[in-house]
Amino acid sequence: MVIWSPFMQSFKKKYPWVQLAGHAGNFQPGDEGCILKKFCEREADCLRSISDDPVLRNFAPTFHGIVECSAEKYTRMQDLLLPFDCPSLMDCKMGIRTYLEDELVLAKVKPRMRHDMYQKMVEISPDEPTDEEKELRAVTKPRYMQWREHVTSTSNLGFRIEGIKKSNNDPSKDYKLTKSVEQVTVAFKYFIDDNIDVLEKYIERLKEMREALESSDFFHRHEAIGSSLLFVHDSSGLANVWMIDFGKTSRLPEDQTLDHRSQWIEGNREDGYLFGMDNVIGVFEGIRDS
Ligand code: ATP
Ligand code: MG
Ligand code: MG
Repeated sequence: MVIWSPFMQSFKKKYPWVQLAGHAGNFQPGDEGCILKKFCEREADCLRSISDDPVLRNFAPTFHGIVECSAEKYTRMQDLLLPFDCPSLMDCKMGIRTYLEDELVLAKVKPRMRHDMYQKMVEISPDEPTDEEKELRAVTKPRYMQWREHVTSTSNLGFRIEGIKKSNNDPSKDYKLTKSVEQVTVAFKYFIDDNIDVLEKYIERLKEMREALESSDFFHRHEAIGSSLLFVHDSSGLANVWMIDFGKTSRLPEDQTLDHRSQWIEGNREDGYLFGMDNVIGVFEGIRDS
């Protein structure tokens, strides 16, 4: 779901804050260049570890503690939009898989039929549900998630576009069937708008990030599911990319590590995060070299 629920950030510089993707109502304005996201232990642990990690700390929002607001717990983190004026944003969900292995196991043991997911499925592909699913007017969550992976570039490229918002325009949310390199290239070109300077900055930053991730003990010891890269630039040429959304990033057992590029076979917990990054970089380089 892509929504646009801006609120005014009240830090010295007043600016509208934009939530491009994700669940409505998950964010609140914060103070001193921070935003508040509904607390999730996994995410808070990850942000804390990354903020303390000399190799990764610049590649994700800084963790600023856990706070309570109207009897609800929130994670306080750096607002990445602060330095930008009227920014353009793109959220790319990384990885070849968007559900945890645990969720798959649970759904096999205790399948829960979801009417809301059936509805979302038929809105995009009316012929997709099986006869049985049509009769029940419901699908299981892994069935829905796997179908979404298959009709977007998640399964073939290891990432998908969740949403794009260009400066003053409304967000574009029409990427639910964006799958091929060609389709992704069109979307990236629309986002970049021929700004070669911004394009070069994105490529350089992504390569630095990839190198940092490849050498990071934290990263090799975590399964990163449903995490995104948030791209932000503005008309002054300021451009940056960060890793966000660690609600499903889980620590592996002590004896296990991932290379984040190997094929996923149920049980090996590979997530294809770096495979996806290679492809994001490849698409940007393709645009630069064309
Ligand atoms: P999902 O449905 O993908 O699990 P979520 O509710 O966990 O979403 P996020 O993916 O963390 O939410 O964030 C949703 C959107 O909020 C992002 O696409 C981005 O526009 C904005 N956002 C998130 N974190 C930050 C941040 N630290 N600074 C600025 N904007 C942010
Ligand atoms: Mg997200
Ligand atoms: Mg999330």
